[in-house]
Amino acid sequence: MNDRNVLEVSHLKKYFNAGRRQIVHAVDDVSFTLERGKTLGLVGESGCGKSTCARTVIRMYDVTGGNIVLDGTDITNMSQKELKPLRRKMQMIFQDPYASLNARMTVRDIIAEPLIAHGIVARKSEANDLIYGMLDRVGLTREHANRYAHEFSGGQRQRVGIARALVLQPDVVICDEPISALDVSIQAQVINLLKDYQEEKGTSYLFIAHDLSMVRYVSDEIGVMYLGQLVELGEAEEVHFHPLHPYTKGLLGSVPVANPKLARQKEKSSIEGDIPSPIHPPEGCRFHTRCPYATDVCSRVTPEMKDAGGGHKVACHLFD
Ligand code: SF4
Repeated sequence: MNDRNVLEVSHLKKYFNAGRRQIVHAVDDVSFTLERGKTLGLVGESGCGKSTCARTVIRMYDVTGGNIVLDGTDITNMSQKELKPLRRKMQMIFQDPYASLNARMTVRDIIAEPLIAHGIVARKSEANDLIYGMLDRVGLTREHANRYAHEFSGGQRQRVGIARALVLQPDVVICDEPISALDVSIQAQVINLLKDYQEEKGTSYLFIAHDLSMVRYVSDEIGVMYLGQLVELGEAEEVHFHPLHPYTKGLLGSVPVANPKLARQKEKSSIEGDIPSPIHPPEGCRFHTRCPYATDVCSRVTPEMKDAGGGHKVACHLFD
């Protein structure tokens, strides 16, 4: 493992059994690395497998195939008991702050719980300094500690979720669409909070989102997923301003644009049709059923991920 990387994911697969011998190929041969102190954004339409990929990496799910190495330790096949001491290193911020916080617990209890579970403090009363410090850090006050999650706005709840994840000072945080459920006015505040924390502590983020333009703002690198596979991977600015894969171009075309003239230009590159079923993914390039550039070879041969120059990788026969 390269010392610069805190996370290395190789050929990761996660299949689910959907019954009647039907297999959902949710994540199918995905490889990437995450450098210390950096952010990798994973984007794609809903159903592309990005959240399943993140949840498999954090071992909420068992792994079907491939490898996950966290800070030099192979965690691919570890039992939940073996994983417990390593959980401190990798935490998760969820999309829905309403669903992810226990309504019957005070904020103090919510933030104290992981501290006690990992033996950082023996009892709740010893956690106060850490809890107050963390609340301050995420823009809440110590008065908030005794309130229940339902007493907060969506943005405040997400701040509590972030405090719970960061209080363990993890090396890696999986951010699973952490701002999608928030008002636009709150989104930038939460993003800035995460960025400030990263600058100070050197934390690495795997940031899941469907909006490529927003991901560009938080990410050093961007990976684009389609139907369980990575189709493009490169520096964030490169992928955003010089997308190579027809799917990435289409995704950029589907981002709402304020300028009507620009919006009309972008519409032309939007993707048509629905994402096919991951139970029976198309043969060859999985995007060929929707790709305006598809040729005969695309429906027969799976394109490999190749470096198109300067570390910008793409899986498309147009770049063979
Ligand atoms: Fe389109 Fe073919 Fe490239 Fe797939 S391999 S994205 S179908 S041109």
